[in-house]
This record gives sequence, C-alpha cells and structure tokens, in this order.
Amino acid sequence: MALSEFGLIARFFDREVARDDIALGIGDDAALLAPPAGHQLAVTVDTMVEGIHFRAGDDPEALGHKLLAVNLSDLAAMGAEPAWATLALTLPEADEGWLTAFSRGLFALAADHQVALVGGDTTRGPRTLTLQAGGYLPAGTALCRAGARAGDGIYVSGTLGDAALALDPPAGLAADQLEALLIRLHRPEPRVALGRALRGVATAAIDLSDGINADLGHILAASGAGATLELARLPLSAAVSARTAAGDWRLPLSGGDDYELCFTLPAERAAMLSALPAGVAVTRVGTVEAATGLRCIAPDGRVVDAGGGYQHFREGDGDG
Ligand code: ADP
Ligand code: MG
Repeated sequence: MALSEFGLIARFFDREVARDDIALGIGDDAALLAPPAGHQLAVTVDTMVEGIHFRAGDDPEALGHKLLAVNLSDLAAMGAEPAWATLALTLPEADEGWLTAFSRGLFALAADHQVALVGGDTTRGPRTLTLQAGGYLPAGTALCRAGARAGDGIYVSGTLGDAALALDPPAGLAADQLEALLIRLHRPEPRVALGRALRGVATAAIDLSDGINADLGHILAASGAGATLELARLPLSAAVSARTAAGDWRLPLSGGDDYELCFTLPAERAAMLSALPAGVAVTRVGTVEAATGLRCIAPDGRVVDAGGGYQHFREGDGDG
C-alpha cells in the first residue's frame, strides 16, 4: 500500500463532526460516547461482501452511500435518531481513487443525518465493507416488531419493487426510468425522519430489505398475528406496474433492497399520519388479523400465492 494504514485513516476517514454526545472519536483504542440521559442506545451492523452484495467494479461512491444507508434504515425502523458509526474496511489494496469516492458517498449521507464516524478497523483482504451505526431514542419508545395487533392497518412508505427491477430491467425502458430504478437500487434513502415520527404512533415497524412478504412476515411472527394484503393498494412505479399488470407480483412482494418502512397502527391513530414529515408518501396496504398467515388478495379478488417468503409465514397456521 502506498498509503500507510494510519495515513489512509487520517486522509479519508478522520473527519470532525460537532456532536456533544462524543467525548472521544477516532484515534484512541475506543471511542467514548455519552448518550443523553433517559435515552436508550440503538445499535446495528451490516456487512457488504464483494461478489455477494455488490459486484467488483461497482461505483465506490454508491457503495459508501449504501453501506451507511442500510444501517440508517435499520435505525429508522426502530424510530432511533442516528448519531455515530464505526467502519470496518477490508480492502485488497489502498486504491486512492476508490477510497476517495467511497468516503465521499459515505460522508455525504452522514452529513445529511449529522452522523459522526467515531472509529473503525482497516485490514487487507477480499473487499468487505462493514459499518456499525448507533442512535438514540427516549427509553421505552422503540418501534419493535412484536407490537402489531389484529385490526391494525399495515402501511408502507415509498414504492415497492423498484430496486429488484433494476437488477433485471425490461428491454426498451426509457433512459430516465432506468436511471430512477438504478438510484433505488444503489442509493436508497433511509426513512429516518419517518421512523422518528412514528414513535408513539406505530405499533410495530420494520425496514424492507428482503421484500414485504418476508419482512411483514417478521412483524406477524413476532406479534403472533396474520394479515391480509390488498395488492391493488401496493404503491408501485410505472415500471413495476407493467410487471404486475401481467399477473407477476414477485417484484413488489419478494424483491429486496427497497429500504422502505413497513409499519402498523390502529385505526384510531390513522389521522396522526397527516402530521408525518413530508418527503415520502405512506400508503395503507392491508390489515393485521388474528388468523396467522399472510393472505394476498389480487385486484380481481383472487388469493395470490406470492412465493418466496410466503411459506415462511404460513408455518404453524395449521392448514399447510
Ligand atoms: P487498534 O489497533 O487499537 O484497533 P487501529 O490501529 O485499528 O487501532 O485504529 C486506530 C484508530 O483509527 C482507532 O481509533 C480506530 O477506531 C480508527 N480507525 C481504524 N480504521 C478506521 C476506519 N476505516 N474508519 C474510521 N476509523 C478507523
Ligand atoms: Mg484495529
């Protein structure tokens, strides 16, 4: 490596961020953090491995953005306010161009959310990017998966299936539509303000990394409930609608990487949704029910088998 390990850290990752909850950041054996009194610390970590989660040659600026975004999405799904991150980088070489672009993407999103990078680890090996993010919320206010109750409405933010369609775009798609899909795949916007606003409103929440089929399934399993999803209500881009119009619902139901929020709330709180932060639409897509299992009702009224995660949440519902 032309750059020493410490030169690399100083040049690309040691950035001052004014936060009064950091007593000591990069440069010692550990960071010292001071969560505000009366708050709980929410901590999450995600790893992206070259060849598994991204391709060799993928835009490093987008990788920096996405690595932080997927973690902030987890914090958003808890209703936490992001505060800091640590970064474990394993790289085959100290490629300055790659590091410049990667750190630009990472710090641009970090600045949007006032997240400070307070430490990390740098090693040589097959390219593997790990980021741990931490945030805070008033004790007892976290949006957990287990709180959904029969009768609650089920909501999602944004649109579903675009990121998955970007991996296999239809031939002849207009350039601007293709670009919009690729942005959804490579530059997800974590719904941090929405998650924070849902504290005290939503009964359960999760972020959609594996598709609503599987991820809503986690809420239902944790809550001991089932649900009906009305497919006609799913918020879809024109490009995804073109697929579902042909009867194929796999993109919005089982496509991954949307990083939208899925949450539940009782009917009497539905009016509170009008006070949510602008910036992303939320759409009611179904209802939590006491009977376990997920029932997907197609626009023509048929019950659709969505495949993928579908079997997973029919486990234990007694009728196979
Ligand atoms: P140690 O040997 O105590 O683990 P390191 O030599 O790995 O410390 O790191 C020195 C300092 O730089 C530590 O404060 C560590 O948190 C920080 N650091 C290392 N790699 C990174 C990175 N990729 N991004 C941010 N901080 C880093
Ligand atoms: Mg170390």
